[in-house]
Amino acid sequence: MQIGIIGGGLTGLVAAHALARDHKVILFEKMPYPGGCLSSYHINDYWIERYYHHCFSSDVSLFSLLEEMGLFEALEWRNGTTGSFARDTIYPLSTPLQILRYPELSIQDKARLGWLTLTAKNASLADLDDIPADQYIIENLGLNVYTSFFEPLLKSKFGDRRKEVSAAWLMSRIAIRSNRGVEGERLGYLRNGFHTLIDALVTSVTQKGGEIRLQEPVSSVARNNNRWTLNGIPCDAVISTIAPLELERSGGPALPPIPYQGAACLTLAMKRQVTNGIYWLNMKDPAPYGAVVTHTNFIPFERYGEHLVYLASYFSGTLPPRLDERMLSDFCSRFSVQPEEISWHRMAVDPFAGPVYTTGYRSLIPRYETSGLYLAGMFSQTNYPERSMEGSIRAGFEVAECLKKREQHE
Ligand SMILES: Cc1cc2nc3c(=O)[nH]c(=O)nc-3n(C[C@H](O)[C@H](O)[C@H](O)COP(=O)(O)OP(=O)(O)OC[C@H]3O[C@@H](n4cnc5c(N)ncnc54)[C@H](O)[C@@H]3O)c2cc1C
Repeated sequence: MQIGIIGGGLTGLVAAHALARDHKVILFEKMPYPGGCLSSYHINDYWIERYYHHCFSSDVSLFSLLEEMGLFEALEWRNGTTGSFARDTIYPLSTPLQILRYPELSIQDKARLGWLTLTAKNASLADLDDIPADQYIIENLGLNVYTSFFEPLLKSKFGDRRKEVSAAWLMSRIAIRSNRGVEGERLGYLRNGFHTLIDALVTSVTQKGGEIRLQEPVSSVARNNNRWTLNGIPCDAVISTIAPLELERSGGPALPPIPYQGAACLTLAMKRQVTNGIYWLNMKDPAPYGAVVTHTNFIPFERYGEHLVYLASYFSGTLPPRLDERMLSDFCSRFSVQPEEISWHRMAVDPFAGPVYTTGYRSLIPRYETSGLYLAGMFSQTNYPERSMEGSIRAGFEVAECLKKREQHE
């Protein structure tokens, strides 16, 4: 079979890796580099992800893929400290004690927060899918818990679309992320960066005879009886890993309208760190970014010889004008940084950086086999409630398995 794969992110590469031994695989990627959201910059003599990345102790599919690629030993675990920037002050919020000391929440607020964390695992997601997260939190925990704790978190994940997010998403996320000990959450990172995983997948696909065509966006998708053509190239089966709406625009079938948001992430380098040693700082104060993620407060500075900071922001529709300039100047004034201290900065923008888990989202999730096509990616069931490397790896393997089963059946 000749299989066309649209998208060279983690899902597309994993599917290609799983299928290339027994099939002719042609993978189309619109960018000049592979990896999608998990692609990296090569700066000086190191690689750094375009968008901040870490993994979790529950990412079992990621671990077995790393094992298969001979990279498991390169996985390291470190404390991923978090905090909040409120009223011009940095508050650490990694440990239960630090949360107890956080002055923006009263004792009652903290008790309610503790109750929510304990009950999240047993919440009925079906009942919560139509309720907006802000309404649910305000009704059950009060306005202050929302504005002081959850709104900064929602803003750092969904920007201006935070009010559309469902309570089902919020409760599932609390359930999977509340497993932290007294020291805070342990997060994983691949020594030398996740670039090594993307590189290993590309090598595996090409060594098996698969073709990876970079800078070749699929702009036409057509069906002819049971076969497809992608940019005029005939395929017996097609796996699309791009946003369903983007596929539709290229001539693909009408698909569930999964809402997506864009991400704009400014990476900058400087000689000192300015977030009091905190890795992930959510902005409660209004700023043109929702979080300041200091990679070198997670992975040692010595590996890079400079501090690496991400300013993270999400947008819907088109990118707000001059966002990079506004982010940079806000960061410099808020954190007392002189512009000359920043040795370089780069902006990464992806208009389809992830679904927005709006109310009713769960009913939109497409099956792997839909409208004669195979669909897998950030919109798959495996990526709910959190799109992740783990979810995309599982989606890539599962869609490949689905295609193999269909072939055996025929
Ligand atoms: C800001 C940010 C931070 C993240 N942090 C983490 C984290 O810390 N931990 C974690 O586990 N996960 C994280 N993720 C999620 C993780 O990166 C994604 O789940 C995963 O990389 C998505 O892979 P994918 O292949 O499903 O989608 P994508 O990476 O989006 O891949 C789709 C590919 O399709 C290409 N494409 C689009 N249109 C076309 C076309 N017409 N023709 C050809 N190619 C096309 C795109 O260029 C892209 O390469 C983060 C994501 C973002 C955006």
